Amino acid sequence: MLFATTAYMNEQIEYPVENTNSYIQESQLAKRDAKVVWHPFTQHYTAPFSIPVARAEGAYLFDDSGRKYIDAISSWWVNLHGHSHPYIAQKVAEQFLQLEQVIFAGFTHEPAVRLAERLLEILPKNQAKIFYSDNGSTAVEVALKMAIQYFHNQGFTKKRKVIALENGYHGDTFGTMAVGAKSGFNAPFEAFLYETIYLPVPIKGQETHSLETMKKLMENADEIACFIFEPLIQGAGGMVMYEPKMLDTLIKLARENGVLTIADEIMTGFGRTGKLFATDYVETKPDILCLSKGLTGGAMALGVTSCTQEIYDAFLSEDRRKTLFHSHSFTANPLACTAGLASLDLLLNEETENKILKINQLHQEFKQKHAQLSNITVKGTILSIEIQTEEGTSYFNNIRDIAYKFFIEKGILIRPLGNVIYLLPPYCISEEDLKYIYGCIEDFLNL
Ligand SMILES: *Cc1c(COP(=O)(O)O)cnc(C)c1O
Repeated sequence: MLFATTAYMNEQIEYPVENTNSYIQESQLAKRDAKVVWHPFTQHYTAPFSIPVARAEGAYLFDDSGRKYIDAISSWWVNLHGHSHPYIAQKVAEQFLQLEQVIFAGFTHEPAVRLAERLLEILPKNQAKIFYSDNGSTAVEVALKMAIQYFHNQGFTKKRKVIALENGYHGDTFGTMAVGAKSGFNAPFEAFLYETIYLPVPIKGQETHSLETMKKLMENADEIACFIFEPLIQGAGGMVMYEPKMLDTLIKLARENGVLTIADEIMTGFGRTGKLFATDYVETKPDILCLSKGLTGGAMALGVTSCTQEIYDAFLSEDRRKTLFHSHSFTANPLACTAGLASLDLLLNEETENKILKINQLHQEFKQKHAQLSNITVKGTILSIEIQTEEGTSYFNNIRDIAYKFFIEKGILIRPLGNVIYLLPPYCISEEDLKYIYGCIEDFLNL
């Protein structure tokens, strides 16, 4: 069983993790970095030097000493087709010489229009308009503002509460922290976060509880603007998976009661779950979708919030106050839109479809090989293993640091979420590399 890992863990528990990799301690770049840079999600008091990446190609990162790492988490879930992809690079370089950036209020350009057209071809059929921003958090901010102002514009000023799934993650800005799980991460800001109503996640064993809670909440639907969720998989919450049927019922309940639904597909979008979008698994389509991460193949920062014609229409008025007053300097950056178009070219062909199927098949085989473990779950290209530890489930769990270090030493980049180890590889990863990773997981867990 997985508990066998406890022995291994006890031997290794020594927090803080030391700067173990001597070759990184030798790196001039790592030293210069430590002097001047503050990294995201990093406790610099205890963190080792950052790994200095000199270049990347396909599924591999290479540090400045030439050491290779398999990027098993797509560099925080963004990369789809491999790093430094020559096709995306070519398209972006050409675009740069044509038009690199232009104000997007009062002006438009081919890459933005074309990307919107192409996204609407593959998004759920009820989606009609594309609003651009420049990252995942902003895509969610825009979605929430759309939903709340949709009602405000129509005089339903009481309808402004938000329902979110427990354990969710939607970004790190104030508006998105407010709808995410309350945790140690945002404790200092809790007093500044607006009130959100949390709905239990309809995971196995909790389905009825979740549905009954939603029905109860719908009795006060006249005060509720929207329901936001990560469809089928809660990423940062620990790759927690739930069934499409449950999501379908929740969306339906919201719809019947005049509550808008927002699918945060920032992690799940563009094939990760085996279909283009996680909402492709459900019958009742959400009103608003948020995209980022894989949108540009992971090459550039871009966010998209798509919505129905009905939502868009509620902002049309001679009264200028009904405008959606939201903008970012780099809204619809032409280079990022071009990367998005190039990524779609690569994504929407049979070769990539087969790669996605192959990754799923290999994940399933690994899961079946360890059928005695109840805590391996697979959805599409994502494989997740919950390691049982006595400390329970927490991001601050020691196992995280031990596993991270273990895999880095094996030349594999994974970033466990607390006691959850997961793989979320770029689609170009080879069978050989996946099997090497499975083998290292087995070593780590003493399987
Ligand atoms: C990563 C993520 C976000 C935030 O995106 P950023 O680009 O990091 O701001 C929001 N929602 C989900 C589901 C995510 O995985």
